[in-house]
Amino acid sequence: MEKGKTRDGYCLGIESTADDFSVGIATFKGEILANVISAYIPPEGGIHPREASRHHAEVASKVLEEAFRKACIKPRDLAVIAFSQGPGLGPCLRTGAAVARALASYLHVPLVGVNHCVAHIEIGKLKAGAKDPVTLYVSGGNTIVAAFDAGRYRVFGETLDIALGNCLDVFAREAGLKQKPGEPFGAIVEKLAKSGKRLVPLPYAVRGMDMSFSGLLTAAIKALQKGDYKLEDLCYSLQETAFSMVVEVTERALAHTEKKEVLLTGGVAANRRLQEMVRFIAEEHNAKFCTVPSEYAIDNGAMIAWTGVLAFTHGITTPIEKSYVRLKWRLEEVEVPWMK
Ligand code: AMP
Ligand code: MG
Repeated sequence: MEKGKTRDGYCLGIESTADDFSVGIATFKGEILANVISAYIPPEGGIHPREASRHHAEVASKVLEEAFRKACIKPRDLAVIAFSQGPGLGPCLRTGAAVARALASYLHVPLVGVNHCVAHIEIGKLKAGAKDPVTLYVSGGNTIVAAFDAGRYRVFGETLDIALGNCLDVFAREAGLKQKPGEPFGAIVEKLAKSGKRLVPLPYAVRGMDMSFSGLLTAAIKALQKGDYKLEDLCYSLQETAFSMVVEVTERALAHTEKKEVLLTGGVAANRRLQEMVRFIAEEHNAKFCTVPSEYAIDNGAMIAWTGVLAFTHGITTPIEKSYVRLKWRLEEVEVPWMK
C-alpha cells in the first residue's frame, strides 16, 4: 500500500490461539466481508495443543480460499495481514503466525500481531455498538472483567485457575455427555440446566475481584459421582453458582468505573441465563447491555482482522523479527491508541 493511503483497504486476520482456526477479512471502515471458522473437535478428552495445531495446518489453505471467495477479493487486494500473536497455546499460535508471515512476505504487505483478548473487546464494540464498556469476556480459555482506563484495557478481575467455559466443558465430559458437531458442551449444559429445579450447594469462590472455578468443578464432579442428585439439578446449580461469581465481579467493576455499557463476549456469552443475569445488573446501574452474535463471540478471524485495522491505521505494525508468539501476553500490556 502507498504511504499515507490508510483510509481504504482490506485486512486479513488469522485466529489460531486454541481449538479454532479462522480467517476473517475486514475493510478499513469496519465491514466484515468474511469470517470462516474451522473448529477442531478432539476425538476424546480435552484439546491437545499438538493435535489442534495439526488440524490448523491441514485446514489453513481451504479456510483462506473460502474467506477470499466469500469476501470477493484477491490476495493482491490486501493492505495488511493481522494474526493472533497471543495469549494461547504455543503450537496453535505458531501455526497461525507462520501462515501470516508467509502471506505478508509473499504479498509485500505489513504484518500486525494482535492480542487475542483486545480483539474480543474490539469486535464486541463493533458488532454490539458499544463505545467504552465494562467487558465480561468468558470463553474456553479466558475469564476476564476489563475496562479501558488511561490508554489500556485494565483487568479488574480474572480467574485464578481454569476458565468458566473450561469448567462447563470438563463437567460435561465427566458426566458422559456427547457433543454433536457444532454443539458446544456449554450449550448442552445450558439445555439440561433448564429442567433443573434444585439448587445444590457448591463452593462460591470470589477473592477480591478474582475468581476460582477449580474447587467448584471438583465439588460438582464429586456430587455427580455420588449419584445423590439429578444431572439437570447439577447443571443448573453449576451455572447459577459460576455465573453469579462472574456477574458479581462485573457489577463491582461497573459500580467502580461508572461506565455506561456492559459488553458480554466469548463463547459462553451464547448462554441465555448468563445474558439474563448480566442484563439485570446492567439495568440496575443504568448501563446498556450489549452482547455479540455468537459467530463473533467465539474465537474468530474477523476480530483479528478488525483489530488489525485499528492498529495499522494508528501506526502499529509488527516487523517479522518481532512476530514471535506470546503465550502469556496480558491484556493490560497492550497500548490501544485508537481509544484515546
Ligand atoms: P471460545 O473459547 O470463545 O471459542 O468458546 C468456547 C467455549 O464456549 C466453550 O467452553 C463452550 O462450552 C462455551 N459455550 C458455547 N456455547 C455455550 C452456551 N450456550 N452456554 C455456555 N457455554 C457455552
Ligand atoms: Mg475456541
